[in-house]
Amino acid sequence: MPELPEVETTRSGLESLLHDHPVIKKVRLMRGDIRFKIPKNLPKQLEGQKIVGVRRRAKYLLFDTANGILLNHLGMTGSWRMVEPGDEDKHDHCYIELENGKRLAFRDPRRFGVIDLIQPGGEAKHKLLKNLGVEPLDETAWTSDYLFQRSRKRKVAIKVFIMNQVVVVGIGNIYASEALYRAQVKPQKLASKVTREECERIVKSSREILQHAIKAGGSSIRDYKQASGESGGFQLLHKVYDRENQECPVCLSKIRAKVLGGRSTYWCPICQK
Ligand SMILES: [Zn+2]
Repeated sequence: MPELPEVETTRSGLESLLHDHPVIKKVRLMRGDIRFKIPKNLPKQLEGQKIVGVRRRAKYLLFDTANGILLNHLGMTGSWRMVEPGDEDKHDHCYIELENGKRLAFRDPRRFGVIDLIQPGGEAKHKLLKNLGVEPLDETAWTSDYLFQRSRKRKVAIKVFIMNQVVVVGIGNIYASEALYRAQVKPQKLASKVTREECERIVKSSREILQHAIKAGGSSIRDYKQASGESGGFQLLHKVYDRENQECPVCLSKIRAKVLGGRSTYWCPICQK
């Protein structure tokens, strides 16, 4: 499953491929649905429109035009690439032909991806976007104050809390373990008991971990390809994740593991309080 860093890497790849803001000549849908139905009017509404930019909200990509937004989720195995004639694939579900002669393809073998159309002005009310929490890379939104206020009275493990997409988006399972290790906070500590200083460290470390992964080109999956067709980098070094019984890089204690909120969780029993 592509995590936020992979999606951000895809976004910046797409933005450089589309830097000249090309006009959409034709949208060709190869099937009527992927994970959900694709609106039938999507091609008609976007054809003739200039792609003015590609944004990311949580793990959704938003292709902006003046007449609506194409919303995309990569699902498990989705990827975008510029496709040359003869390089089509049976898993290409959507082609966007551009007036500059290039052609963008969305490929998704396992079909958990999403393509939808958002009407102009409809972004805040869209069913997939309206309940999303703050962006972890946004320094004015993901702050220690915000985390501290939101977590009071919450009798849930802090790791489960920061993975809740209504609170903050895009801190996936690997990143949550790594961020709490870096913040020296035990994953199973109750959110309500986390101090202001710990909130500060959690916010800072989660942002740093994600930024580091974005720099590395994303970290966690096999099928993922960057928008340019290059393979993404997988070199994020996990300090605790998937390292049960191995040494903590700081204190050399054995890393521990347990299932928390249904997800594998790793921590150092000495460094994290
Ligand atoms: Zn340690």
